Amino acid sequence: MGSITFHHVYKKYKGEDRPAVSDFHLEIQEGEFLVLVGPSGCGKSTTLRMLAGLEEISEGELYIDDKFVNYLSSKDRDIAMVFQNYALYPNLNVYENIALGLKLRKTAKHEIESRVNRVAKILEISHLLDRKPGQLSGGQKQRVALGRAIAREPQVFLMDEPLSNLDAKLRAQTRAEIIKLQADLKRTMVYVTHDQVEAMTMGTRIVVMKDGIIQQVAPPKELYNEPANMFVAGFIGSPQMNMLEGKITYDEGQYYFVSRRLRLPVPEKYYRSFDRSSRVLRNVVMGVRSENIMLGDTASPEDESWTKCVVEMSEITGADLYVYVKLGEDTVIVRADADCSYKKEDNGFIKVDMNKVHFFDKETGASLAIGGEMV
Ligand code: ADP
Repeated sequence: MGSITFHHVYKKYKGEDRPAVSDFHLEIQEGEFLVLVGPSGCGKSTTLRMLAGLEEISEGELYIDDKFVNYLSSKDRDIAMVFQNYALYPNLNVYENIALGLKLRKTAKHEIESRVNRVAKILEISHLLDRKPGQLSGGQKQRVALGRAIAREPQVFLMDEPLSNLDAKLRAQTRAEIIKLQADLKRTMVYVTHDQVEAMTMGTRIVVMKDGIIQQVAPPKELYNEPANMFVAGFIGSPQMNMLEGKITYDEGQYYFVSRRLRLPVPEKYYRSFDRSSRVLRNVVMGVRSENIMLGDTASPEDESWTKCVVEMSEITGADLYVYVKLGEDTVIVRADADCSYKKEDNGFIKVDMNKVHFFDKETGASLAIGGEMV
């Protein structure tokens, strides 16, 4: 119970030229924790609202448990939704807020009582049942909103940025609680956020969206290690993946990535991506994460894998030090040991771990590894 199928779903709002969601095609497994992530306006909420029955589907089909639900009203879908603003009734106390959905569904009184108490215990809000929402902190209100959803015992939970009104500490704590709850309840969860860290830590599978279009669907690790295109590569991970424009050249059986400042031999595992197309030899973007670049003070002049650079600034985040270095026109962010210290204008050398780079087609942004077995 709780599987969901989007079959080529589109949403076009009246008066808009472009669809807010285009060709959304996805199967969500029963019990899965699926996260929709992407920048503001990319169509996440619209997708969730179509699933909730709060927004009409313009084209395509939606199924919940193999049942066609395009025209099924929200209340007849076995789902519960938690929003960013808690939407609690101010005049009802916590108990009544949690119980309301069950009451409307004509659940028996003793059943309501047992469910509300059980949920309150899980969420550790039993001592707050008599309070009105006005007497609660933001975190407590959000728990009540969660409690209201859980008490309904739906097959599917939908959450739209439920943590964005909470401060950082409470957000991390509630995030952990939601993960645990979902694991315990084993119900399907579709969770919307614009925050890639939230997406990466919560989802068993993540859908990255841009301009209403799915860019990639994958588990967190795969998104990080095998981004399908430059957008996903840049969106997932912090700091952003470094992107260096250049071309691929071929010289005596060896491919090289060449930019104004770099000429780096490309490991053989990537060769097939280049062999497939001659076009990509001209315009590529090499993506490399900050942790896959080494920074040193000196380098032997014979060792071509080290390239001279100049420090622009550095940023300490606690455990890590991020050093921004200039490589000609390009700025590259390098993760360094937090014990090191670098000053503006310091000279240094960087070395890119070529086994960890990504190549993208400059025009389309697509990863050149797609369809191949080389990464
Ligand atoms: P997200 O949740 O990713 O921030 P939304 O799904 O809210 O994005 O919005 C996707 C696009 O649809 C945006 O361009 C937004 O302006 C537009 N949009 C959202 N709701 C409406 C509406 N009721 N009428 C017209 N356009 C809308």
